[in-house]
Amino acid sequence: MSQPSPTPTPARPPLMSLDDALARLTQAVRPFDVAQALQLSTFDALGRVLAADVRSLVDVPPADNSAMDGYAMRCADVPAAGTTLPVSQRVPAGVVGDPLVPGTAARIFTGAQVPLGADAVVMQEQCTAVSDATAGGSVRVDTVPRPGLAIRRRGEDVCAGSVVLPAGTRLTPQALGLAASAGAATLTVARRPRVALFSTGDELVMPGEVAPGQMKPGAIYNSNRYTLRALIQALGCECTDLGIVPDRLDATREALRRAAQQHDLIVTSGGVSVGEEDHVKPAVEAEGRLDLWQMSMKPGKPLAFGVVRRSADSAEQAQAYFIGLPGNPVSSFVTFFLVVRPVLLHLQGAIDWQVRPTPMRADFDWPRADKRREFLRVRRNATGGLDLYPNQGSGVLTSAVWGDGVVDNPAGQIIRAGDTVHYLPFAELLS
Ligand code: AMP
Ligand code: MG
Repeated sequence: MSQPSPTPTPARPPLMSLDDALARLTQAVRPFDVAQALQLSTFDALGRVLAADVRSLVDVPPADNSAMDGYAMRCADVPAAGTTLPVSQRVPAGVVGDPLVPGTAARIFTGAQVPLGADAVVMQEQCTAVSDATAGGSVRVDTVPRPGLAIRRRGEDVCAGSVVLPAGTRLTPQALGLAASAGAATLTVARRPRVALFSTGDELVMPGEVAPGQMKPGAIYNSNRYTLRALIQALGCECTDLGIVPDRLDATREALRRAAQQHDLIVTSGGVSVGEEDHVKPAVEAEGRLDLWQMSMKPGKPLAFGVVRRSADSAEQAQAYFIGLPGNPVSSFVTFFLVVRPVLLHLQGAIDWQVRPTPMRADFDWPRADKRREFLRVRRNATGGLDLYPNQGSGVLTSAVWGDGVVDNPAGQIIRAGDTVHYLPFAELLS
């Protein structure tokens, strides 16, 4: 009698690396057209991405000026410390003095234009006023100045006509200041991405709506809705929160159709594993196109990427992008900043969305290497090393609150205390 042939096990799809996933995403997602850019007051542009270069209209500083309160002079007039010079004029900031009379000094203040002929400023702490130095007196210079001392040169920060901020720059407070110093009262920026968010899972209930005593067995509070909505808003995007969608194909399809209308990106959490209750995959397939990726990372293995049609028209403008995050709270948090954040910045044309890891010392052991690249929740300690949160479970959100970042640990890598590891701070990932 012949043996029954073994039931074939379904072939597992190969795991995809995070870098491959990011490369595919940034290829598939088209940045907004420049025609959609808008002019904003420089005051209102924090966190936006520039859609055009900012060129300076002026030299900054506009003229050679003093870096100190002190005295402007010619070095040639002070061959030795202790030389006394008559004070011929007083030059406060905002005033243009006369050319410096040879053999004299000018009383000068920080930011004031250096009088023609002067080639150094000696700070007042190194000068002694002899008689009333501010009203035609004299000053003893207690040092030997070198040419250029305490002078900020015209254009040393920015030259007129040069690009101070290239298109694709994400505007920080200091970038706004630089744009203003270059004379820009308004900036051309990409519009904000419009993101629709919903959570899937019949076990989910909302705090405040269902009291703990009223929760059915198996119910849990929806935490991803809060985390993801705040992450989207923290990145300066508009977020439409569509709440909880029941684990039913028709309801999921309906939510997707609604979400696609007015939005650039639909983000969901949960329902992207391949369990029977995971309706996100068939729903997106029915309403558009979907790739389901098994990512070689931990937490955050399943990830779905696709598009949802806005109408029967399949043109690119008639589609919203779709990213389905895993349901486990730490997984969705981590995949948001590793995957969704780059996509949101890329949509706006940002040139630099990579967060560069900082080498740091591990003050912990991680003796069991994983097959997947891991993102371990850690926090910096007082001695300049990293401590590890003891429970790295993908459902343990406490780890992400206790921690101030993650260690990006390559697949198959064990960690011994004292090893140098790659640290990614939340502060950078979430801004
Ligand atoms: P899923 O990806 O839908 O299989 O969910 C994986 C795990 O994450 C399950 O334990 C879910 O109960 C949990 N989960 C899914 N969505 C949420 C959510 N919005 N808030 C908190 N936990 C969730
Ligand atoms: Mg689920």
